[in-house]
Amino acid sequence: MEATNNNSVESVQDMTWAEGVPLMAGQYMMGLAEPSPETKDYWQGVKEGRLFIKQCSGCGKHNHPRRIFCTACNSDALESVEAKGTGTVYTFSTVYRAPVPAFEKEIPYSVGVLELSEGIYLFSRIIPEKGKEVRIGAPVQLTFQETGPNGRLPAFQIVG
Ligand SMILES: [Zn+2]
Repeated sequence: MEATNNNSVESVQDMTWAEGVPLMAGQYMMGLAEPSPETKDYWQGVKEGRLFIKQCSGCGKHNHPRRIFCTACNSDALESVEAKGTGTVYTFSTVYRAPVPAFEKEIPYSVGVLELSEGIYLFSRIIPEKGKEVRIGAPVQLTFQETGPNGRLPAFQIVG
């Protein structure tokens, strides 16, 4: 049975919630490659090799994914701050079968949720130490993965 994916070209054309340009892998949308007003500083940081997240200037809580209001105190005073780029593996999955042909040269690879030092959770590619496997709780350090002509994405390298 063939898997279906609701992020097809047709559903992308109906998307009106952001002004970004879809990053496509074949017919599948992988995210927005160009910034929307809410993500402009995030993508500029990625170009510079830096990771920016939002922090509430009212209560200090870091917020991610990006939101208009703080999830702790509902303030709309969210500032963009640079993340330390450190954290641990919260959970992960290793992909052995490419979801689309564009990913065949990368398998096997791991993706998962990282708990960053700022207390936020972020989904990203996870790069194990050479010859080792990804494991829950492993410390990670921010790096970046070149994704082709559309640029780069944050990734996390296990560091011990
Ligand atoms: Zn707050």
